[in-house]
Amino acid sequence: MFSSIRPSLISAKFPQLQKPTSSFVHLPQNNLSLRFRAMISTPKSEQSSTNDEVYRVPGLDLSEIDGIAEETFRRYSISSMKRNGNGVSIVWFRNDLRVLDNEALFKAWLSSEVVLPVYCLDPRLFGPTYYFGFPKTGALRAKFLIECLADLKKNLRKHGLDLMIRHGKPEDILPLLVKTFGAHTVYAQKETCSEELIVERQVSKGLQRVEVASNQQQSTGSTQLKRAKLELLWGSTLYHVDDLPFDVSNLPNVYTQFRKSVESKCKISGCIKIPAALGPAPEIKDWGSIPSMDQLGLQGKKVSKGLVFLGGESAALCRVHEYFWKKDLVRVYKEIRNGMLGADYSTKFSTWLASGSLSPRFIYEEVKRYEKERLANDSTYWVLFELIWRDYFRFLSIKYGNSLFHLGGPRRLELKWSQDRTLFESWREGRTGYPLIDANMKELSTTGFMSNRGRQIVCSFLTRDMGIDWRMGAEWFETCLLDYDPCSNYGNWTYGAGVGNDPREDRYFSIPKQAQVYDPEGEFVAYWLPELRPLPKVNRHVPGISYIKPIVPLKFGNKYRQGNQRAGRRSDVAGKQSTRLKL
Ligand SMILES: Cc1cc2nc3c(=O)[nH]c(=O)nc-3n(C[C@H](O)[C@H](O)[C@H](O)COP(=O)(O)OP(=O)(O)OC[C@H]3O[C@@H](n4cnc5c(N)ncnc54)[C@H](O)[C@@H]3O)c2cc1C
Repeated sequence: MFSSIRPSLISAKFPQLQKPTSSFVHLPQNNLSLRFRAMISTPKSEQSSTNDEVYRVPGLDLSEIDGIAEETFRRYSISSMKRNGNGVSIVWFRNDLRVLDNEALFKAWLSSEVVLPVYCLDPRLFGPTYYFGFPKTGALRAKFLIECLADLKKNLRKHGLDLMIRHGKPEDILPLLVKTFGAHTVYAQKETCSEELIVERQVSKGLQRVEVASNQQQSTGSTQLKRAKLELLWGSTLYHVDDLPFDVSNLPNVYTQFRKSVESKCKISGCIKIPAALGPAPEIKDWGSIPSMDQLGLQGKKVSKGLVFLGGESAALCRVHEYFWKKDLVRVYKEIRNGMLGADYSTKFSTWLASGSLSPRFIYEEVKRYEKERLANDSTYWVLFELIWRDYFRFLSIKYGNSLFHLGGPRRLELKWSQDRTLFESWREGRTGYPLIDANMKELSTTGFMSNRGRQIVCSFLTRDMGIDWRMGAEWFETCLLDYDPCSNYGNWTYGAGVGNDPREDRYFSIPKQAQVYDPEGEFVAYWLPELRPLPKVNRHVPGISYIKPIVPLKFGNKYRQGNQRAGRRSDVAGKQSTRLKL
């Protein structure tokens, strides 16, 4: 099904790919200090003596991005397939803003003579969050979405279609379009959380009220009418829900059991290839335009520091290409994935995965291709290991439904939480007096991104050291994160707060220990808190009177071992202390 491109073809097309360009390749396996340097290393062109460098993700220019996207589309297109349907079908794009490996788009094409692709700018996405009334979509994610839509429109046009953009609720817009175009089916990607499920039900109901002439009757001239239908397709995970070796209601409560079970019993299907030409597009005068920030009721915000992501499928394909083939980073992923500074310590695929601009199965196929053509090691496998976590949280959202969003979490634990606004604001704005927390929170509000390590640390601090209602933190993440996804966000927060489905995932992250292991020279905190840069490196995490006074004491004290000491054995659980929550 999937034919991999030969190295000679790659180098002819992209000469810069002929050999690995990264110095990571030569890292001595057991040299910790070098690994730390690798964790914070940046491409030369992006280094500067100021503290304001930006890291563009992907780091290539626009013409390279387009070239790589086109090359990838070519690899994944088929020329010989014939469609076998009649009439018009609609693709309702949701969190699947891509052309490649998009089953809804493919089925719509197959089952019709004309496809109408539609995206609805649902005002509810720009309203307040459920409990605490923060903006549901912050300005940075809105900008990222706008870029995704512009790129989707461009790529659909390249395939002979276009993207209709309408402002309003899908349940109002889609039945009208079905009526106007006589569409027999609306195809869309299935979601799993309650807000999205409500919309699905309302769209389905709305469609049932619309009658369109059935294809057969159209051709025979009789007037019999048929109801249009909504067909929902699974498309967001590596493993297909139908391929799981158990019913989702019996999903194991321990991640390792889930992973071992799917790895041994299920196959990951290949990406869906699409015809190079998906037209003809319906004749429409007003396709609607890509919204501006103003139209979404938001003010544009320029990222002047830290990671700057570009939205859209083309950028996503380019980041995959850059990460695997150009920079050869996947071969050291497992060793450096816990970094916090720069673009390259981890894949950064999450932003595009969350908007659906990138298919996890495409990443899987790239891992396999890389393993065949360059190298297979623990790191190449670990990218899949992490993607299976993502799958797991998606399936958990089906098993546990709304309890994922409730204070007691899936285990319905009755714990005492505070909603102290002063403490919460100090966390949110990065003014807690703990440089590691403040730097991470400033990164989040400035860029819309935070490393996985940072997310675990700030979550533990808010819930364990401050005792604040974890939903306040989760909703603030919902506002800010470019990669916000309800399953991964609320799933991880319930784990972090100790109310997740697996009691064994109940861990405390000690700030002094985390600082020592993951930012031993204070480079990360000095980047986000420039006032700390003049301090000796050993003092950057314990600045004393040079910085804000800590707003709360730490649960287990603030013992930071100073000096150039070697951190303890580094592993995934370094610095975590197992503790039950006593608030
Ligand atoms: C409190 C908290 C909230 C989070 N909220 C989100 C969220 O809203 N959306 C989101 O995509 N991730 C979330 N994560 C998971 C994780 O932090 C991000 O996926 C990761 O940091 C993204 O960076 P990356 O793509 O470079 O990850 P990499 O380390 O390169 O991992 C590769 C991919 O694996 C998946 N992955 C890795 N770790 C996790 C994890 N713990 N849970 C689920 N998937 C994972 C992601 O899709 C990621 O892109 C959260 C984690 C925590 C602790």
